[in-house]
Amino acid sequence: MLVMFGWLKETKKIGPALSCHCYRCQKKRTWEHWKENEWVSFFTIKTIPFLSKSYVVCSTCRASIALDNTRARLVGVRENEPHLAKFLEEHQLVLKSPVQRNFLLAQREQNQSRE
Ligand SMILES: [Zn+2]
Repeated sequence: MLVMFGWLKETKKIGPALSCHCYRCQKKRTWEHWKENEWVSFFTIKTIPFLSKSYVVCSTCRASIALDNTRARLVGVRENEPHLAKFLEEHQLVLKSPVQRNFLLAQREQNQSRE
């Protein structure tokens, strides 16, 4: 008997997640909520859900940041937006040197004072 099994990966946009500053764009942007699911398939039919990951993606520059399950549950609830925005800021600045970080924060302040 021949059994065909494999992996299927699907990604789909859930909807807008929040609106906050993107350090790559250097502007306030809408971030989208995306979900990626991996399935075990038999005869090319999705059968067993295997992995599920959540991301927020900048709607303009497409920078994506993975969310753990706890943070993924916060998406879409307006009261949680400041918490998520803080997480995105920390994530975007974590690999920057202190000089780069200060420059980006100063540039953000400058841009916000112009808006
Ligand atoms: Zn961006």
